Order: sequence, then C-alpha cells, then structure tokens
Amino acid sequence: MLQLSRSLSRNLSRSPQFYRPTHLNLATRAVAPSNKAKSGLLSRTRTNWEAWKKANRKKVLSIRGAGFFLRGIRTFVLGMSIYHTGKAMGTSEFARDPRAAEKRIRNQLVMSQAFETDESGKPKFPRLLGTLHPTHVRVEIVGQRIVKGARAFVEAKIASREAKLSDPAFPVSDRGRVEGELKGWRDKLKMIKGNWHFVVIDSPVPQAFVSDLSPRKIYVNTGLFSTLKCSNDELAMVLGHEISHLLHGHTEARYMYQFELDMIQLLFLSMLDSTGVFTLLGTWLGWGWFSKQAYTYSRSNETEADETGLKICSLSCYDTHRGPRVFSKLMKAGGGDEDKRAPSWNDSHPLPMDRERKLMEQSKLINCDNNPKCHGVLERILKGRREGKNKEHHHHHHH
Ligand SMILES: [Zn+2]
Repeated sequence: MLQLSRSLSRNLSRSPQFYRPTHLNLATRAVAPSNKAKSGLLSRTRTNWEAWKKANRKKVLSIRGAGFFLRGIRTFVLGMSIYHTGKAMGTSEFARDPRAAEKRIRNQLVMSQAFETDESGKPKFPRLLGTLHPTHVRVEIVGQRIVKGARAFVEAKIASREAKLSDPAFPVSDRGRVEGELKGWRDKLKMIKGNWHFVVIDSPVPQAFVSDLSPRKIYVNTGLFSTLKCSNDELAMVLGHEISHLLHGHTEARYMYQFELDMIQLLFLSMLDSTGVFTLLGTWLGWGWFSKQAYTYSRSNETEADETGLKICSLSCYDTHRGPRVFSKLMKAGGGDEDKRAPSWNDSHPLPMDRERKLMEQSKLINCDNNPKCHGVLERILKGRREGKNKEHHHHHHH
C-alpha cells in the first residue's frame, strides 16, 4: 500500500513541471491583468502594467511572496491527498480480495529475484521449491525457531516495560514514553503471532528478505545454500537480521522517510520554478544532502537489525560465534559475479567485514551459553556433530 503511494509521490517529484500548479495567483489576480487581457490587449496594457509594477515595487514583491507561500501550501496539500488516495486504494484492494492482493504482492516480491530470461528477453518467473523439498524443510525448521526467538525477544521487551510501569518509584516524567514503547511492542507481538510461511525461491543469488506488505512470510533464495553453503547458524543469522527489520519497523519507516524526501523536493521545486537555474542548482545541492541522509539512515538501521538479529539467534539457541561468518562468505561470493541481475543480500548491506567484526565482538556477550533452555539443544547438536551427522533434529519440549 505504502509502496503504491511512494511511487506516486516519486512520479510527482520526477515530473514537477507536470504536476506543478501553473497558476495560483489568488493574491495577484485582483491587481494583475488576466491572461485574456494580456493576450488580447497586450500592446496597450503592457506599458501600463510595467509602469504600475515600477511604482508599486514593494507591493509586487509581497504579492509574489504570498503567491509562493500559497503555491507551497497547495503543493503540499496536493501531495498529501495523492499519498492518502494511494494508501486508501491499497487498503480497499485488500478489503475486497485479501487473498488476491497478497498473492499479487508475493508474486511481485518473487519476481524481483528473477535471474533468467525467456526467448523474448523477458524475465522468467523463478521456480518455487515445494514444501516437501529438503531445502524447504531445512529453511522451515531454522525459520520457525527464529520466529520463536523473535517472539521471546518481543515478550522480553514488553515484560521489562511492564516492570518499569508497575514500579511506584519509576519517575512520572518517563511514564508517557515507556507507555508508548509498551504499546508499540504489543502491536509487534500481534504482528508476528500466528503461522509463518516460507517461500523458497530457486535462484543462485544469495538473498533472504521480508516485507511488511507480505505479513508472516520469509523469502529465501536457494543461493544461500548453493552459492554460500550456509550452515544453519549462518542461515539463522540472516533470518534473524531480516525479521529484526520488521520488528523495528524499518521497512515502514523507510517508505515514510522516502515520502518525506519526495515532499520536500516537490515543495522545493514548486517554489523555485520561475527560473530554471535555481531549480537545477537547488536539486543538485538538495539531492546530495538528501542521499547522504538516506545513506546514514539505512546504515544505522542495518546496525540495529544486526544486533537484534544476534539476540534473536541466541534466544533461538543458535551459535552466535559461528553465525556472523556468513559475511566473509558473502564477500568472497560477491567478488567474481558481476553480471547478476537480482540484487543480493550484500548490496543493501554495506561493509560486511566491519559488521562481521562487530558481531563477533558482541557475540561474546550475546550468546546462548547462559540460557538454560538451550543447553539440551546445544548438547544434542554437538552430539550430532560428533557422530558425523550434520543434521539437526527437531525435538519437542517435555514440559
Ligand atoms: Zn538489512
């Protein structure tokens, strides 16, 4: 839904001359000659008009200022209404036929991983693995454990805030903030409750992703196993990172942030449109600043998702000392393969070696060694490794 409105607002900012309000001279209309008068009686009125302008310079300037101001407001209102229409359109589509809408979004997301083309050069829809395929089963086993860990993570966030609020000594001035956080985490818990599904895409590009447009679904490319030879600990790290983006609302926030950028740019262009020079200069200067902001924004998101991902891995009893090694594998795999068509997990995640170093450092504190729930699981896995079986068995809890 948000994506739709985002593309609309982007189109807006890309073609400002098309959407830019051409005449909003409400303030000037009373004193300036109309277009008709201008064209019909051009020669006669022009001299009068120029003379009037010269004599009333201050007035003209303030009228112009008011015009700019109104134009700015109108552009903003126009942008907002288009944004909300887009959002409402998406919502009504979901209300009419939620299954069809979900399927359409799912197909779009799968299609974004297309790497083969047919005879006519069109990208081919990638093959999806059946739920009984061994790779699908493996993704599902690791994925369900990560989802469980994510729930435990959110429940801990809720519990710590509830404890703060029930403590009479907790300062009144901080209560509002903590109550807001509590509500936010409760909403997240609702979002991740229920059955999760896994879509395994047959594509050599090492990639996994989630989207808030496609709730309770995790998309995984087979490239994580064929190209990267991911272990279960590494797969857990990738999935934990992706699910953390959802928990922190990063995808949502990114759309909102993009929308804000588009709005600012649109406003900017509409105010400075009388001379092409300013538009050019303004966009150039402005664009450099915006993209820098967007870049640092996404970097801080990645760091946050990395840390939460590591916590989720430890809550799911995965080895946090081994998981981060996926980054060196990504570095190695990313080297030679330049004509790949679909973006890999690495592209949206800069500086993998820095991240691996940081995560290795954090894993000294964030690990499952002190989690009594994990002891049985770890022992079983280690036993399995000793016996030369690299398979993990799914055990049920006995209490
Ligand atoms: Zn990420």
